[in-house]
Amino acid sequence: MAETSLLGNISFLQGSRRFLYAVTPKETSFEKLGDVPDYLNEAVPFFLGAIALEYILAFLTDLPRARLNDAFSSVSAGVFSQLSKIIVLSVELALYIFVYDNFHLVTLPWDSPWTWYICFIGVDFIYYWFHRAAHEINIFWAAHQAHHSSEDYNLTTALRQSVVQNYTSAIFYMPLALAVPPSIFCVHAQFNMLYQFWIHTEIVRSLGPLEYIFNTPSHHRVHHGRNPYCIDKNYGGTFIIWDRIFGTFQAETDEEIAYGLVHPLASWDPIWTQLCHFSHIWKTFWETSGVTNKLFVIFKGPGWTPGSPRLGDPADLPEIEYPIRKYDNSLSLCGTLYALVHFAVAIVAYQLLIARRMGMTQLHVAGVISYFLFTMSSVGALFDNKWYAPYVELFRCLLFLIVDLVLSSQNLDTGVLPTKYIGVIRGIFITSALFWITGSFMSAKKTKTE
Ligand SMILES: [Zn+2]
Ligand SMILES: [Zn+2]
Repeated sequence: MAETSLLGNISFLQGSRRFLYAVTPKETSFEKLGDVPDYLNEAVPFFLGAIALEYILAFLTDLPRARLNDAFSSVSAGVFSQLSKIIVLSVELALYIFVYDNFHLVTLPWDSPWTWYICFIGVDFIYYWFHRAAHEINIFWAAHQAHHSSEDYNLTTALRQSVVQNYTSAIFYMPLALAVPPSIFCVHAQFNMLYQFWIHTEIVRSLGPLEYIFNTPSHHRVHHGRNPYCIDKNYGGTFIIWDRIFGTFQAETDEEIAYGLVHPLASWDPIWTQLCHFSHIWKTFWETSGVTNKLFVIFKGPGWTPGSPRLGDPADLPEIEYPIRKYDNSLSLCGTLYALVHFAVAIVAYQLLIARRMGMTQLHVAGVISYFLFTMSSVGALFDNKWYAPYVELFRCLLFLIVDLVLSSQNLDTGVLPTKYIGVIRGIFITSALFWITGSFMSAKKTKTE
């Protein structure tokens, strides 16, 4: 199998412009949907580079740095979200194509800059309302909260995406399908997401006059705050003008922002991160009496309780205690290194899976994805200092080695690991398994620090 370049074939300038939505209609208009590049996955090397750069800058400027457990949790969520699109395909796009093919009222020409600009504004306008609904309607919030579950705020937070939200956003974009070709919609849906990557940072403080028009790091920090003044504010994607028009704008103040959920998640389990609020709604639904109230539990705001306003009583929001305490379990140096190495192997495998998936059987893809889920959950349990984590990790390492042995005995390989470095990867798994067996590897301390 041919080796696929991990860095892709986009120039540095191209990659950087894509983050800023600084692209022209000419270079990003396509007739056929199949010709639209996979901008999000092409950006992965740039995500990683920017994350590294931000880490260095934060170190130099004494700002909070990304934490491995939190970054792991965020990146896992991003990987899960993208993988779910491979299995169930992008429902958003499938529904869009269906509506466009059967119900479109006018046919806007795919190669007209006007179509491009209409879609640019249209996607962002709809994103505002979709995002607002995701915060103000409990069942949509269950899908969206994963993105807000980090208590840190840095570029990795942007990758913390919800799996379920891929499916709830679809319905909102349907009006566009009455006129805009799917290929143009697909371009803007991706750029709208790409733009939102770089605004997840504390490094950039203010962008001067641009703050009036665009969604910026400053505005989006407010959106991620759990301070009472930050709740239900700044829903914009690329533009902030929608918030200014519809009354949800809030400028950043001098008050130190505490990031994350009003009731912090306190877990690094990537599956629980995705599903916790559905479980909460389920419990609240059965505990609440009366059919109307039960419906309100689902369709009013996440903070709603019987007798309170639609979005809950602001007086119920807990005040922020300073200094801000975050959920954190420290791993030993060995543990940190271990997690980092296995995390890196998974990311390389993810990149190659994305690049090669078209040439793989469904069973093969399903097998690789299952192994991803297992890996991310197991490493998450390690970060959470779960008692069973070492046993699960030992099992995972042995499972890898057995599968690898069986495959290579038949002249096959995993298909998603670089064959050039397979010796190194085997070495990593053998060493890891041996360490777990001797049982002296991890001395993780269960401490909660700031
Ligand atoms: Zn949000
Ligand atoms: Zn965000």
